[in-house]
Amino acid sequence: MHDMQRGIYLDNAATTPLDPRVREAMRPYLEEIHGNPSSLHWAGRQAREAVSKARAQVADLLHAKPDEIIFTASGTESSNLALVGVCEAAGVAGGHVVTSVIEHPAVLETCRYLESRGVAVTRLGVSREGIVDPNELRQALRRPAWIVSVMMANNVAGTLQPVNELGRIAHEHGALFHTDAVQTAGKIPIDVSAQPIDLLSLSAHKLYGPKGVGALYVRTGVQLAPFVHGGGQERGLRSATENVAGIVGLGCAAEIAAASRADETARTVRLRDRLIDAVLKLAPRAYLIGHRYQRLPGNVCLGFAGLEGDAMKLLLALDAAGIAASTGSACSANHGAAPSYILQAMGYDVFQARGSLRVTLGRFNTEADVDEFVRVLPEALGSLSPLTTFATGMAMEGR
Ligand code: PLP
Repeated sequence: MHDMQRGIYLDNAATTPLDPRVREAMRPYLEEIHGNPSSLHWAGRQAREAVSKARAQVADLLHAKPDEIIFTASGTESSNLALVGVCEAAGVAGGHVVTSVIEHPAVLETCRYLESRGVAVTRLGVSREGIVDPNELRQALRRPAWIVSVMMANNVAGTLQPVNELGRIAHEHGALFHTDAVQTAGKIPIDVSAQPIDLLSLSAHKLYGPKGVGALYVRTGVQLAPFVHGGGQERGLRSATENVAGIVGLGCAAEIAAASRADETARTVRLRDRLIDAVLKLAPRAYLIGHRYQRLPGNVCLGFAGLEGDAMKLLLALDAAGIAASTGSACSANHGAAPSYILQAMGYDVFQARGSLRVTLGRFNTEADVDEFVRVLPEALGSLSPLTTFATGMAMEGR
């Protein structure tokens, strides 16, 4: 059994480890610097300056202006603020929102809430590789919409969306464009000064920063109504005394990501491709889910033909060998092996949609980690119960 120190962490899409440089940047704000950024005295000033610096760091990562960054408590809250904020500012009932069927629950459930308030929601389907068809968006926008929300990359399948094209189409039809960039910020280049993006959500804990802090980019001029009411912090859009240490951590994480992204992406893509090539070679039943290249640098989403029913057991066998991976999304861990709505939307059947293995690589993974995974995998696959393997193999016949 591996202990926490010795285990290999291949679940970076669920959350990333805190970068030691981020921890050091946060430390003074957990220890001696305790002021409230709204206070006028020296202690408040110290905290206020730290929040301003972090705002500029996050803005730089996105090529935004600092006053276009609103700090929130999570990626989830950012997307809630974007969608509910736009709809409430526009009047709610009678509006139309367009999104995709493979969004994270942060967007899907927010859309469902808006529906209950009288907003019409159109959900775009995806291809077998998990890509939204721009023509389908054009069709949907025959009915005018306030906002289109399509994620930059999917958290399970890893597929990157054509957000520039989707954003342009949204603008041509007079709609705002929001993107959930929680999986991509700091991992693929983002330049909101050149891209047709009006609102963008990100989260520190997917970026080697702390949990419980996020940001929403809001293009200058976009009208949003707040849903957290109080002291008027964050330009009145998100009242509450700021999470100063968390915000400092997000700022530092953003600065590191901006400086190291190009090298890190190239390195992570090499590790990802090494893992994909090795698995497809050694496990004849393995198949890759999502697009081979148009995918997140660190994402490998695999199915094993005939063994999908055993995905949970495979995960536990990997865990016993010290390897942390995931089936589908950790955000829905409570639902156990429920079929993934994302894979079903991509055309996989209920059985296959229950059985994916998601391996996600990050900054602190090495070739040795990939090689260890590849070494352990056949053993883990072999440990699956012959009875279920046989039964599920039968069920797969004729496919
Ligand atoms: N959006 C996507 C694509 C995600 O992967 C996640 C996290 O799992 C979230 C949103 C939610 O972010 P947070 O955990 O900061 O609320």
